[in-house]
Amino acid sequence: MVELKTDASIDAMHAAGHVVGQALTAVRKAADVGVSLLELDEVAREVLRAAGASSPFLGYRPSFAPTPFPAVICASVNEAIVHGIPTPYRLRDGDLVSIDCGAVLDGWAGDSAISFTVGRPRAADLRLIDTAERALAAGIEAAVVGNRVGDIASAVGSVCRAGGYGIPDGFGGHGIGRHMHEDPPVPNEGRAGRGLRLRHGMVLAIEPMLTAGGGDGYHALPDGWTLRTDDGSRAAHVEHTVAVTEGGPRVLTAR
Ligand code: MG
Ligand code: MG
Repeated sequence: MVELKTDASIDAMHAAGHVVGQALTAVRKAADVGVSLLELDEVAREVLRAAGASSPFLGYRPSFAPTPFPAVICASVNEAIVHGIPTPYRLRDGDLVSIDCGAVLDGWAGDSAISFTVGRPRAADLRLIDTAERALAAGIEAAVVGNRVGDIASAVGSVCRAGGYGIPDGFGGHGIGRHMHEDPPVPNEGRAGRGLRLRHGMVLAIEPMLTAGGGDGYHALPDGWTLRTDDGSRAAHVEHTVAVTEGGPRVLTAR
């Protein structure tokens, strides 16, 4: 069931989303060659703590997961697509990093992700990240009253495919509210004009995931969480929480 949020609830979600944006900004600032993924998780924890927010990631255990998630960020490096568990791994020159973070404030959730490089970037990674950001922007632009979920999916997918990139099958965005994952699913590829009609008060997490090699396949690492590209190519993942309103799409996790 899709829950429509009141304008007051959307304002409350904006406050939660602001904390997520702050956490991602702090993590990105701290990320550098030699910095560990655990240290980045600690940076995000401190931002959440200072804001009085809790983490919807910490202890999260969906049906596929063998263990509760142990951190407040997902840190997915190079050929890891999403759901990377922060480890003592220290970032190396040229790494491509995707950080996903959530926060719950006053009972409302925010969810957002960024991809960036550390040290000297590879041109191919910059193009991949740029395409992911353009796909996200296209998805947000399609998140307007009267459109359908398929219009968002089609907008995201078209930008990804035009770049020659793969789209991991079966993962995508979602409704969000008091819970991080609500209805409806928001796929990263689909047919325009199909699916649920968008209404004022729907809040959606839109999150393109792209593989540089063009393959759509992935597998979990032995930790049961981290998803890695089957073709071994690098991946990018960006995300915003967006409210559909009569005044147009409202990004609640802007940085
Ligand atoms: Mg996320
Ligand atoms: Mg999400």
